[in-house]
Amino acid sequence: MKKPHVIVLGGNFAGLGSAQKIREYAKDAVDITVIDRKNYLLYVPNIPVEIFDNKDPQESLRMELPATLKHDDINFIQAEIQSIDVDKKQIDIIPSERPGSETQKISYDYIVIAVGCRLAYDRIPGFAEFGDTVSDFYHGNKLRKKLHDGTYKGGPVVIGSAVFHQGDGAEGLEPYPGGSIPSALAACEGPTVEVSLAMASWLQKYKMGSAKNISITTPASVVAEDAGEKVVAELLEAAGGMGFNYVNNCGDIVELTKDGIKFENGQYLEAELKIILPDWVAHDFLRELPITDNQGFVITDLLMRNPKYPEVFAAGDCAAATMPKLGAIGHQQCEIVGLQIALDMKVITEEKANKPLKPVVFCIGDMGEGKAFYIRSDSWFGGDTQVLKMGKIPYLLKMQYKTLFMSTKGKTPPWGNEVAEFLAEKL
Ligand SMILES: Cc1cc2nc3c(=O)[nH]c(=O)nc-3n(C[C@H](O)[C@H](O)[C@H](O)COP(=O)(O)OP(=O)(O)OC[C@H]3O[C@@H](n4cnc5c(N)ncnc54)[C@H](O)[C@@H]3O)c2cc1C
Repeated sequence: MKKPHVIVLGGNFAGLGSAQKIREYAKDAVDITVIDRKNYLLYVPNIPVEIFDNKDPQESLRMELPATLKHDDINFIQAEIQSIDVDKKQIDIIPSERPGSETQKISYDYIVIAVGCRLAYDRIPGFAEFGDTVSDFYHGNKLRKKLHDGTYKGGPVVIGSAVFHQGDGAEGLEPYPGGSIPSALAACEGPTVEVSLAMASWLQKYKMGSAKNISITTPASVVAEDAGEKVVAELLEAAGGMGFNYVNNCGDIVELTKDGIKFENGQYLEAELKIILPDWVAHDFLRELPITDNQGFVITDLLMRNPKYPEVFAAGDCAAATMPKLGAIGHQQCEIVGLQIALDMKVITEEKANKPLKPVVFCIGDMGEGKAFYIRSDSWFGGDTQVLKMGKIPYLLKMQYKTLFMSTKGKTPPWGNEVAEFLAEKL
């Protein structure tokens, strides 16, 4: 008997995690294929740590996908996804190992869309010449060299986000009683806070300045609002005490120039270094499909299933329900997707499977000097938890989580988060 074929689009955090969870819960009831244009996982969250330590992130933050997936009898295809036909249950791909390949069609019974977002640096005028960022190996190494080879002279630094254009696909979802998936003007501001704190510590270490050199900017009324009001107030108090310049409500980034950065509200900030997180945009091939919202994000319910096409699931940054765009929320969704497909295969019960998404912002950010901040919060969605801790234990957890992730090939044990919570919050 031919088994149902599950195709997972994307092989980074949400794609790998979904494929592994489907195998864990649905066992051998399905065939699984993961498709990604690159054949490795890019471990994004630790890029800033490596850069400030002057280490090449490519050496420690990539994990080979084919061998990892083979452990669970999951097929891997390295290809560019071109389009999805949700009525024919078919996708078009072009094998991406060599240019010039032909288009291939692949049919599916289930599809899990986990292709993340397009980080739209190309929409920021002047970014190519004057901008820096920390979201991938290329840009990370470019910034690392600037910092450590003497190019950067210790002038003013601006760290902030462009405006995020969120779609309407999560409207009406109620993850906690009376709560919602809120709208936000920035997709993910954990990196802004992390890079600002780490940069301040780096400036002090190399006797080139301090937090006073740095402006933290946000298009929103507060930075990192997803962390919850109490946590943000504590963070801002700490940042103010260190001497950061904090600029909110600045609107979109209009242009980067050699000496500064212009904002939509007319403000201009001088800056030698401009470290930017851009708009997180849906991929073109997802736009104007019957499964996506007005910005191209995949519409799901809180069981990560599309309401009109129940064989379509989404997880991670490309899902409309993922706000902020945070790997930790994608991780929660992978579990749900695995359980739902196992339910459809009739290998688990409804009671075990139907556990709707209750997003929790779980974020550990480097602060330099062997310290980190730890945030666990669900208040933005209607929950009542808001925890902020800072110190050496969160830093150890951040580094240990990466080691555990790499050594278990992405299968961090379920007790990992509980241990992290205990160590960060009780010790
Ligand atoms: C600097 C930085 C620090 C961060 N720190 C944290 C943190 O501490 N904690 C946290 O939880 N989150 C953090 N995040 C957010 C986190 O990185 C993302 O939420 C996470 O990577 C999303 O995972 P994903 O699998 O949904 O998407 P992605 O990681 O973007 O993966 C998408 C995959 O799909 C593939 N793909 C896309 N389009 C196609 C196509 N057309 N054809 C073939 N393949 C395709 C890509 O190659 C990629 O492998 C951070 C982000 C940044 C930028």
